[in-house]
Amino acid sequence: MNEMKVPIVELSECIACGVCVETCPEIFRFNDTGYIEVIELAVYPEPNVNDAIKYCPVDCIH
Ligand code: SF4
Repeated sequence: MNEMKVPIVELSECIACGVCVETCPEIFRFNDTGYIEVIELAVYPEPNVNDAIKYCPVDCIH
């Protein structure tokens, strides 16, 4: 079986700047309470996830 990488947002560190949503709206969104959530996908496109990790100003995406 292929290993699948799933992005995790460390909400205690997230400053809700929205960069990840702008970078990868297909993966990250703001939920109703204003926190970032990872959209459930069967497969997460790795280059996009890596971009979000790279651009997150507080490095809270793992
Ligand atoms: S880029 Fe990082 S700090 Fe900004 S909203 Fe996304 S997870 Fe939070």
